[in-house]
Amino acid sequence: MKAHARDLAVLGGAPAFPGLLHVGRPNLGNRDELHRRIDELWERRWLTNDGELVRELEQRLCDYTGARHCVATSNGTAALDILVRAAGLTGEVILPSFTFVGTAHALAWSGLEPVFCDVDPTTHTLDPGRVEELVSDRTSAILGVHLWGAAHFVDELRSVATRHSLALFFDAAHAFGARYKGQPVGRLGDAEVFSFHATKIVNSFEGGAITTDDDALAARLRLLRNFGFEDYDRVVDLGTNAKMSEASAAMGLTSLDALDHFLAANARNLVRYRHRLADVAGVRVVSPDPREGANGHYVVLEVDPGPGLTRDELQQALWKEGVLARRYFYPGCHAHEPYATRHADAARHLPVTEKLVSRVLCLPTGTAVTEGDIDEVCAILALAQASADVVRRQLGRR
Ligand SMILES: *Cc1c(COP(=O)(O)O)cnc(C)c1O
Repeated sequence: MKAHARDLAVLGGAPAFPGLLHVGRPNLGNRDELHRRIDELWERRWLTNDGELVRELEQRLCDYTGARHCVATSNGTAALDILVRAAGLTGEVILPSFTFVGTAHALAWSGLEPVFCDVDPTTHTLDPGRVEELVSDRTSAILGVHLWGAAHFVDELRSVATRHSLALFFDAAHAFGARYKGQPVGRLGDAEVFSFHATKIVNSFEGGAITTDDDALAARLRLLRNFGFEDYDRVVDLGTNAKMSEASAAMGLTSLDALDHFLAANARNLVRYRHRLADVAGVRVVSPDPREGANGHYVVLEVDPGPGLTRDELQQALWKEGVLARRYFYPGCHAHEPYATRHADAARHLPVTEKLVSRVLCLPTGTAVTEGDIDEVCAILALAQASADVVRRQLGRR
């Protein structure tokens, strides 16, 4: 472990992780179980189109979440795409800007207008009071995001939705395995959307799913997932291709089998990060707490603006060590195209988001990160902050 400022890569030392330590390095389940499932689908010669493994995964996801229906998809964005169409949303949809850009794109892609709402400074999720201020006569839905693998303010958002007769959906891409007031994420909104991308807590290489208790919505989602085909040669709706393959379902099931192991690793890692960073000036671990239902999959730092290193300076010092810490979700959806051009003054209405995009840094976690890795990352952060002036001067010299 690095013990002196001169060991820091930014000051000429050898990088701590020449092999690179990524945020979102995939969790892997049991390799033999994956191979067994792949052998089975091989024997069946059934590779996609509502296969046995996809159905098994959907059933397992219903069992886990308690939702009546689950529709598995090729990825989380395709799931959002077919959800907003199946639900017949129109006009404006209120969502946070502090999210992955795919959340906003899914709305804009269907011709809806994303209306960016500010977030709560503590949870980083939609502020229900601000949501209500943004409701107009064109609003058809609220799309919350269970950021950092935790659900917050669901009851308050439900009240706003009910008062204004709006649909309430959640982008739960981060949040498989999380709970809200003891209830699993999956039936908190009128529908919830999961991503099983390789970087998420549970993965199917690429994949996603929508869970809902709404029979009619689920039926339409199934149609839209497969071009609108009602049977072999009758098309009754404007669908797309959002189907999950059997190979993805094989991985999804294998990953799901190991969920408890993944949750435990995340909780353990988070405790260790908190402990090791407790005395490091200027940085705070603000991840939601697994003991309160979070899945622990995101180690989120808020970096104070000074007198230590800024978020961007700390990130640069970490990258020199091979620690690819990420600025999620810089610079906020409102500052990405096509939204930046359409809403040139959006930042004025998003003061909390603007602050967070300059201060938040996500660190590596998951089963691919060891306790030793965490100790090293934290030692680097401590040394860099303790020698902030020297490090800053060196970074400025490049
Ligand atoms: C990953 C992610 C998505 C997109 O999911 P994909 O499966 O990659 O399409 C959407 N929203 C959020 C918040 C995400 O983190």
